Formats: sequence, structure tokens, C-alpha cells
Amino acid sequence: MIHRRTRNYIRRISRDDPELKNRFLHVIGPRDALEVPVSDELIVCDVCNRKIETSMVNVLIIDRMPWGIICEECRLKHHPNLRIIEEYKIWRRGKEGGE
Ligand SMILES: [Zn+2]
Repeated sequence: MIHRRTRNYIRRISRDDPELKNRFLHVIGPRDALEVPVSDELIVCDVCNRKIETSMVNVLIIDRMPWGIICEECRLKHHPNLRIIEEYKIWRRGKEGGE
């Protein structure tokens, strides 16, 4: 049997991950679509809209595409059997070219 790669899983990343920086909220109005910048500190569950304040953040991946951010409670409630892939990143001082 051919080994199938996991399509649906939880990516657990640091809240300091660059992917969580410079996010925008897309607001679709009757005439225009607006992009509202979201503060880097404000991370909200895309399921229940609760604020996430843990150092690690769950990103729900469906069909290998990021669906959104999901808090631990929603993960346990809706996706308790999904595999969790933790991403450890070493943030080295000076790696990005100075402090
Ligand atoms: Zn939630």
C-alpha cells in the first residue's frame, strides 16, 4: 500500500512565528472589500473567536491548506483525533542580522 501523507492535521507554531505577523482581517462590504490590519499580539480562534494567549498556537490544516487558527478547547471539541505537528523553531539572537 502506498503511504499517504497526512492531509489534515494541526500545526502547532509559536505565537512569535512570522506567519502570524502582519495579518489582515478581510471585511467585505456592499461596495468594497477592506483590509484591516490586525495587531500581532491579537490572536483569536477562528472557530469561537476567543483570544488565544498561549505561547503556542494551533493552526488547523485541512487538505494541506491552512484553514485557520483554532484554540485548544475547539481542537479538543471538534478535532480531537487530528495529529499534532509541533514546530520548534530556534530563535537565535542576531540571526536576522542584528538586534
Ligand atoms: Zn476556539
